[in-house]
Amino acid sequence: MSEPTTANDSARLILRAFSFAAAKHRTQKRKDADQTPYLNHLVAVTHALTEVGAGDLPTLMAAVLHDTIEDTDTTAGELEQHFGAEVRDLVLELTDDQALPKAERKRLQIVHAPHASPKAKLIKLADKTANLEDLLTLPPVGWSTERKREYYDWSEKVVTHLRGTNEALEARYDRALAEGRASLAQVTP
Ligand code: NDP
Ligand code: ZN
Repeated sequence: MSEPTTANDSARLILRAFSFAAAKHRTQKRKDADQTPYLNHLVAVTHALTEVGAGDLPTLMAAVLHDTIEDTDTTAGELEQHFGAEVRDLVLELTDDQALPKAERKRLQIVHAPHASPKAKLIKLADKTANLEDLLTLPPVGWSTERKREYYDWSEKVVTHLRGTNEALEARYDRALAEGRASLAQVTP
């Protein structure tokens, strides 16, 4: 993939990634009561990066595509063919091994976070921030206070290893965490 030279080239490539992700995730929903389209999450993660001016073009494209291998039939080869090796490698860094039990996948996110590349750290930080914001405003159906609390605690352990990546994004994550915990404190005496 040749380097983009204009803002228009960047917009074209980001929209190409969104178009690919929209097709791949087209039947998927988030876990909230409205069954929000999954694509909204990909917009939220990428938007969190652009709002703080973080991320070069491959990082923004990988943010759009970050769940394609994990949650759809997309292969690493397909990503390379459409978006190049750097985007492919970033998405692979963001992909959990679905063959492992869930608890192990969650443990490994904590173990692997310190070794992630700076670009992958940025996307992980935006992903965790978007999920905490969803937990507050569009929570998954059926989640107890305790389950939310465990999710906050787990995400905080991952994010500890992502710090020093982008101050503004870390501040946004910290706000989402504080607001989320405060909302739990209101329902649990
Ligand atoms: P899950 O991994 O099942 O769910 C959270 C993930 O769902 C997010 O990381 C996000 O992933 C995606 N997601 C989709 N919709 C939403 C939404 N509206 N808001 C936020 N996230 C959304 O969570 P866990 O199973 O890890 O649950 C949290 C804790 O609760 C765990 O520590 C677990 O031990 C405990 N627990 C788990 C139970 C279970 O049945 N698994 C039961 C009781 C407690 P993405 O960005 O990839 O889309
Ligand atoms: Zn995600």
